[in-house]
Amino acid sequence: MDRAPSSSADAAKVIDGKAVAAEVTSMIKQAVVASGLKPGLAVVLVGEDPASQVYVGAKGRKAEELGFHSVQHTLSAATSEADVLALVRALNADPAIHGILVQLPLPGHINAAAVLETIDPAKDVDGFHPINVGRLAIGEPERALISCTPAGCLLLIKRAVGRPLAGLDALVIGRSNIVGKPMAQLLLQESCTVTIAHSKSRDLAALARRADILVAAVGRPEMVRGDWVKEGAVVIDVGMNRIPAPERGAGKTRLVGDVAYTEASLRASAITPVPGGVGPMTIAMLMANTLTAACRAAGIQPPHF
Ligand code: NAP
Repeated sequence: MDRAPSSSADAAKVIDGKAVAAEVTSMIKQAVVASGLKPGLAVVLVGEDPASQVYVGAKGRKAEELGFHSVQHTLSAATSEADVLALVRALNADPAIHGILVQLPLPGHINAAAVLETIDPAKDVDGFHPINVGRLAIGEPERALISCTPAGCLLLIKRAVGRPLAGLDALVIGRSNIVGKPMAQLLLQESCTVTIAHSKSRDLAALARRADILVAAVGRPEMVRGDWVKEGAVVIDVGMNRIPAPERGAGKTRLVGDVAYTEASLRASAITPVPGGVGPMTIAMLMANTLTAACRAAGIQPPHF
């Protein structure tokens, strides 16, 4: 099993994503009981991708654990785009369903954008619909559903910084629609001065050395080195990279982030480990989004996470 890196010799405070995720799920559980709502989450899986099956299974189990109405639709890889769209429309119309998640990637013959844009934005618990992306971009996050991984990262950052983020310099490395761009929007919303870096950026190390908040969402094992990290920075490592680990035996692998953890933790004030940092937050925020969608549908003020 993968283990979080040891923190005994580290200067930085380890940000315990598992513990924060557990707090979020406990808040959700209490809100479900207090409101009498039964949030409904529908997860749609097309095809037999093993990683997707694992993710979908975990989401369904978590939803059940929280007392949600949880349904999973598993369709064969040969399902037509029209049939997937028809299912999404049926879920849009189902009053027992408040959140719809179509697991990506979809088979090549299905236009993912068409599917995501067919989801009712009020049920788009992944936060990928252009309406939700747009609401975040125009500074109305309270009317949006926000992409789960960056929403989870923001919560970890706020906990680690412990005071308003206004005026802090933030660097987000990565500009994907799922992580980098919404992360940058969220930090901008908090009045950080945000820089977004990507594969064409020059002198990443220099950009990083200015950052009070450094978020790495790249997909390159340990690319961010310790001497890139500003003294006292908060470092959030979104990356999940499997690398060979011959020390564990022939053919074994281990999970590492985009940040060289041991080096970076000597300079950071707080840092997320991989695993056990950002990962657990993603599923917790998916459940939070489903509760938010259910509250809005019922005209109840959703809890603030
Ligand atoms: P992605 O869509 O592949 O985007 C990667 C981004 O990194 C791109 O914007 C790319 O720039 C940039 N990049 C690539 N090489 C770079 C370099 N040498 N220097 C600077 N930037 C570089 O990936 P993603 O979906 O955002 O995911 C990023 C990582 O987070 C992956 O390891 C993924 O597994 C992980 N992840 C984790 C969670 C979680 O729950 N923990 C959730 C989602 C993703 P260009 O745009 O210029 O190509």
